[in-house]
Amino acid sequence: MKQLLQTLTQIPAPSGREDEIRAAIQKMIQPYADEIRVDALGNLIARKGKKAKDGRRILLAAHMDEIGLMVSHVDTDGFARFSTLGGFRPHRRVGTRIRFLNGVMGVIGLEREAEEKDRAPSLDRYFIDTGANSAKDSPVKVGDAAVYDSLFLDLGDRVVSKCLDDRVGVALLIESLTRLKSGKNEVWYVFTVQEEVGARGAGPASYGIDPEIGLAVDVTVANNMPNTRGRNPISLGGGPAIKVKDAGVVADPRIVQAMTRLAEKNRIPHQFEVIESIGTDARAMQVTGLGAQTGGLAIPLRNLHSPSEMIDMGDVKNAARLLAAFLREA
Ligand SMILES: [Zn+2]
Repeated sequence: MKQLLQTLTQIPAPSGREDEIRAAIQKMIQPYADEIRVDALGNLIARKGKKAKDGRRILLAAHMDEIGLMVSHVDTDGFARFSTLGGFRPHRRVGTRIRFLNGVMGVIGLEREAEEKDRAPSLDRYFIDTGANSAKDSPVKVGDAAVYDSLFLDLGDRVVSKCLDDRVGVALLIESLTRLKSGKNEVWYVFTVQEEVGARGAGPASYGIDPEIGLAVDVTVANNMPNTRGRNPISLGGGPAIKVKDAGVVADPRIVQAMTRLAEKNRIPHQFEVIESIGTDARAMQVTGLGAQTGGLAIPLRNLHSPSEMIDMGDVKNAARLLAAFLREA
């Protein structure tokens, strides 16, 4: 699993530029899927099993994209100005290394004046320094996209990397797909595009599948860190979180109850997610077409949307167990 996470996190896929990761995932799952397709938006969709009379059609979604940047213009001195792709917070990222899809490297900078006087500089005060001296010798142009440059770090029980949001979900879906034995349920594995810019891929994918149950497999914010008392008590290493509510969805109580019952029955450590600040593909699945019973499985994570997101491998293992139980018995 660690090896899979390392492979997946090193493939760059800013929102709207998911081609490379999609090709890699497709190659891994092709031999195991009963049916596979890529839709107009670029969602990778794979089916396993056929719905029996007493079975259900279940859609599992994990997003392939990661947060990033896109060049908006290059100024006369060669500094690339940028637009963000997803929750990139430049005020925390001055000095951070980034890598463009064409291999060019750069560093995030902030105008000197804004650094000294402005407590919350606007995005147009930041720039990417690629080492260019003028617009003419800039190695990047308008529309070029970049992601963090960050190596995978193995700390034993815990691992650190960029975009574990949501490559951990992608890894869980890949593992589930390759291991799932056919049962009464029809399972659709959807690797979605453009989640980080507002869950734009999951809706059309869900429309085409018309699931009865939709489950987003994504990350949530771990709070067992200094000075986070009084927050939603999700902890890194405390087990996967069963989604109850996030910024975009109130999970269907039947899904929450079914997952809770299965976690208790199989003695899987688990927690419950109620969070204000994040949304996932769950919302898009819930409100698309005639709607679906929707919930989510969330992996606790520290340093969300940074080059050094951290997860606990025990949580990943237990998420895989809970997911397998759900697909078997839901
Ligand atoms: Zn995510």
